[in-house]
Amino acid sequence: MTTTAALAVPTASAGFERTTIERREVGPHDVLFDVAFCGICHSDIHQARNEWAEGIFPMVPGHEVAGTVTAVGDQVTKFAVGDRVGVGCFVDSCRECDNCLAGEEQYCLKGEVATYNGRHYDGTETYGGYSKQLVVHEDYTLRIPEGISLEEAAPLLCAGITTYSPLRHWGAGPGKTVAVVGMGGLGHLGVKIAVSMGAEVTVLSQSLKKEEDGRRLGASHYYATEDRQTFRDLRSSFDLILNTVAANLPLDRYLSLLRLDGAMVNVGIPSDPDTFRVMALAGMRRSLSGSKIGGIRETQEMLDFCAEHGIGAEVEVLAPEPRVVDEAYERVVASDVRYRFVIDLGALEA
Ligand code: NAP
Ligand code: ZN
Ligand code: ZN
Repeated sequence: MTTTAALAVPTASAGFERTTIERREVGPHDVLFDVAFCGICHSDIHQARNEWAEGIFPMVPGHEVAGTVTAVGDQVTKFAVGDRVGVGCFVDSCRECDNCLAGEEQYCLKGEVATYNGRHYDGTETYGGYSKQLVVHEDYTLRIPEGISLEEAAPLLCAGITTYSPLRHWGAGPGKTVAVVGMGGLGHLGVKIAVSMGAEVTVLSQSLKKEEDGRRLGASHYYATEDRQTFRDLRSSFDLILNTVAANLPLDRYLSLLRLDGAMVNVGIPSDPDTFRVMALAGMRRSLSGSKIGGIRETQEMLDFCAEHGIGAEVEVLAPEPRVVDEAYERVVASDVRYRFVIDLGALEA
């Protein structure tokens, strides 16, 4: 076991504290890496505050992890010391169910092992990337291509793949109109990726405050959802709506913006149930769907795509101080981040 420094919340109602955790010995197929940066995903906040389900505490969140390899097991073939690597939302899966075999490990039928707030199959708790070091099996480790800095790459490991995967699955590309709802961590990457795939992109944001940024990222249109006229103007306009909002939205109103056969895909995950009228679907053969992160193969494909298209997250780097992370959580909840906080874990004292 290796002892490593980390930032943890002791309970769902407490702030962050500096602590130490144990990482397992480097096994034959394991990679040990020094975490350089870890993004703050809105899912970290949902989990650290028990907004989805009862969490496992103390909790060390973080599933947008980027760093540099410092040791590898003697049977590792994919990585070497010095390589730039990343870890996303899961660190293991059963490897034998239909979904794992199809490379969709995020939908593992046995349940993939979450990077934090989860348990390995032997029952031990998992701790995430708000820490100095991480040990992970090489098969669940991603390669960060040259050309993307580690701080800009970290958020791709969750926010990037969560938007890339549905955009690919639902065929975003030339001739398709895509609306991205919410210009936050996920949303700003969704805009960049959909634009690079060749789609015509519209941002649906609560207000026009971030319009200049949205257009700089490549959006052709930008509308405020607080203005009811937006929903009248955009009726039956989109092939795909990617909803990244963490709160419940009036779904019928958004569904009315889909064309014939259009799909609304939800990646934002509110804690309360949603409601909608089937008529909003049936009237134009629309569909309402959801999507969760992406598999390992697709995550690597997304990283390579982002490197090729010069896509990284727009980040604000934070000192690895408990109080600073607490404040950042408040700012994320208040939609006051442009567009992803990443914690500088290289600066965390060992
Ligand atoms: P974020 O940075 O907080 O962005 C969410 C954006 O939603 C905000 O920037 C804001 O954009 C908009 N918004 C916030 N509150 C709203 C409200 N009350 N009404 C309308 N719009 C609102 O969060 P994130 O990290 O991108 O995560 C977003 C959601 O995706 C979270 O629920 C998270 O748990 C979930 N998530 C899911 C997956 C998955 O695999 N499905 C993966 C990662 C995250 P505007 O100001 O532009 O409106
Ligand atoms: Zn996430
Ligand atoms: Zn499986």
